[in-house]
Amino acid sequence: MNWDEFEKHGADAAKWAADYHAGLRERPVRAQTKPGDILAQLPLSPPDAPQPLDDILGDLETTIMPGMTHWQHPRFFAYFPANAAPVSVLAEYYVSAIAAQCMLWQTSPAATELETRVCDWMRQAIGLPEGFAGVIQDSASTATLCAVLTMRERTLDWQGNTAGLAGQPTLRIYTSSEVHTSVDRAIWIAGIGEANLVRIPTGGATRAMDAGALREAITADRAAGMIPAGIICCVGGTSNGAVDDIAAVMEIARAEGLYTHVDAAWAGAAMICPELQTLWKGVEDADSVVLNPHKWLGAQFDCTTHFLRDPSSLVKTLAIQPEYLKTQGADGIVNYSEWSVPLGRRFRALKLWFLIRAHGLDGLREMIRNHVSWATNLAQKLEGTPDFEIVTAPMLSLFTFRYAPGGTADCDALNQRLLDAINADGRIYLTQTRVEGALVIRFQAGAFTCTSDDVDIAYEVICEIAAQLS
Ligand SMILES: *Cc1c(COP(=O)(O)O)cnc(C)c1O
Repeated sequence: MNWDEFEKHGADAAKWAADYHAGLRERPVRAQTKPGDILAQLPLSPPDAPQPLDDILGDLETTIMPGMTHWQHPRFFAYFPANAAPVSVLAEYYVSAIAAQCMLWQTSPAATELETRVCDWMRQAIGLPEGFAGVIQDSASTATLCAVLTMRERTLDWQGNTAGLAGQPTLRIYTSSEVHTSVDRAIWIAGIGEANLVRIPTGGATRAMDAGALREAITADRAAGMIPAGIICCVGGTSNGAVDDIAAVMEIARAEGLYTHVDAAWAGAAMICPELQTLWKGVEDADSVVLNPHKWLGAQFDCTTHFLRDPSSLVKTLAIQPEYLKTQGADGIVNYSEWSVPLGRRFRALKLWFLIRAHGLDGLREMIRNHVSWATNLAQKLEGTPDFEIVTAPMLSLFTFRYAPGGTADCDALNQRLLDAINADGRIYLTQTRVEGALVIRFQAGAFTCTSDDVDIAYEVICEIAAQLS
């Protein structure tokens, strides 16, 4: 295909996208295929001769689409949202067409400067104080890895990068037992070791880490000759939305001189609503904060905003300037590849710019407030429905529940059957987690196109299928 032909095919693709989205409610949310179904339909070897685009597009419809789970379905209530607002999809289309590498200022000045500006828009929107600098990372996992590497290097006076970790003192990083596995991965990759990730027990309604236990763990580690390096907090844990008491943790971090990272990958989006910002009170004292506009907010994946109170520790940890990357005659400019692990960078700022401008913060706030209120209403309705119990109360738009008719011997098995039957039905999609060992069903409202009717349908489907089980 050349760019002349692209004009027609690009227009066809836009029509296809609009039709696809218009018909989403008619499709089962979760793919209804079995493992290997799609693979079996794909030729074992690549073609030597070019094939017509019509054939490729035909196979997209017949082979690929039946095996897709529809993350943009209005009744996707599983995991977390991965919203792609139409305007951000459009921005990605422009980004793909321009296809610039945005690693240095010089390789795309507008991309760098737009990134600086939209990150600062986001900083203001979520209520972080002036002085925090933002960068767009590919994922929250990467941002957390960057934070852990910074904790390590800062504590070792930047000797880890040069001398390696052999012979260095044992570093300790503290976190709640509710954090995402990306924290474990970061600890592994950074060479700190899972054994040195100290999980502080959680408690209370928000399942926050116990500040007293955190303080004791740090003191005990120092007494044992180990070196505390940092604390990772969560605001909106993945399982059931746990939220640490950020102010209490920051007070300890300050007293102990520890670097802090706040993982608000999902819940951070809700901080654009001023009335919800009390959830992470104290965040202004954090060193590093991550949130994913590619989850709830609507920026097509991938788009992670990572805020740093002082980016110099991170840059000192990650920047390398071989001759071929030196930017001549432009001192003081920002090269964002020095703030992240990969060198190459996509132009991610454009979709955030399109999104924020096209919807306005008010439009995005309205969506978030609706989701929170609809999820809260659903939790109340389920709570009042015989045989259902709410296990963890709504944290923003996420709660967990169980179907527990009196006398059920094996509640876990029953809830697994209920979940499997709901997902096989296809009208809605839910996933499970464990709370204190028990299998529970998660519900989160977050799809960009979700309406209160969709949440009402969720209630009907859950009740209808549960009744069929007993
Ligand atoms: C989704 C999520 C992550 C991982 O985000 P990626 O961008 O996929 O790496 C980490 N932490 C929390 C709390 C999350 O919700």
